[in-house]
Amino acid sequence: MKQTILSAAAALLLFGTHAYAQQQDFSKVEVKTTDLGNKTYMLEGAGGNVTIAVGSDSVIMVDAQFAPMHDKLKAAIAKITNLPVKYLINTHYHGDHTGGNEAFGKEGATIVAHQNLKDRLANPPPGANGQKPPASPADALPKQVYADKTTVSSGGRTAQLVHMEGHTDTDTVVYFADANVLDIGDTGGRARLPNIALGATIDGLISGVQMYVNMANAQTKIVPGHGPLATKADLQAYHDMLVSMRDRVAKLKAEGKTEDQAVAAKPVADFQAKVGGNDMQADNAVRRIYATLK
Ligand SMILES: [Zn+2]
Repeated sequence: MKQTILSAAAALLLFGTHAYAQQQDFSKVEVKTTDLGNKTYMLEGAGGNVTIAVGSDSVIMVDAQFAPMHDKLKAAIAKITNLPVKYLINTHYHGDHTGGNEAFGKEGATIVAHQNLKDRLANPPPGANGQKPPASPADALPKQVYADKTTVSSGGRTAQLVHMEGHTDTDTVVYFADANVLDIGDTGGRARLPNIALGATIDGLISGVQMYVNMANAQTKIVPGHGPLATKADLQAYHDMLVSMRDRVAKLKAEGKTEDQAVAAKPVADFQAKVGGNDMQADNAVRRIYATLK
């Protein structure tokens, strides 16, 4: 299982989400549902974890995995409730979280996201292979966008949305206060190296993680974009690791080391050994910290 997650992450870094989606066989994927309490659930399948909050007349959904997962996600939701998905919130623009937008949008879900996300889907930047993915169709684009924070309410459920720039510049953290469930997308998780992708910075990541650690308490169930549920203590440890990583890379930069020399110095090797991740993820984290240091 761990191997699958690592190789999936590596594939995302190498090929971008579109190529990865084309390579994967979705036919054997089963959706696993975890009850988080107060009619709130985590769904795991292929791509980013999904959170759903069931209200009196409709469902609020966070993220929609790859496009081919739509029918399986629908079936998993139907086992919980026959109410429709009224809102689909995207934590960020990557295809393993937004691939299902078009199908859910066509069925009537209103897609809600940070304003940068609409631009990214309508005009995607080139992937790591240098190729520009196709623009998303109109049904996949957000109908509601926001800048700093907003709320989405339906059927007695309320999602609080807060923007940060830790994984991309389209990141949204979603909090359901009545269930004490926090969905943090790909900005963090339990025992993982950071993935600071296009548009995000190490300082944006650290301040964003500090922000949501402050929102959480010891009982908060934290849904990461990938991997198992996390706790406030996990995210505090992640925050402290990020600060150490930043300080080490900043020291190398201040000493006059180039980006390649900083990577070669392996300044996060002990964290990699502790939390897992392959060399490419560790090197990429150092590069992105170096490149985005103030
Ligand atoms: Zn992502």
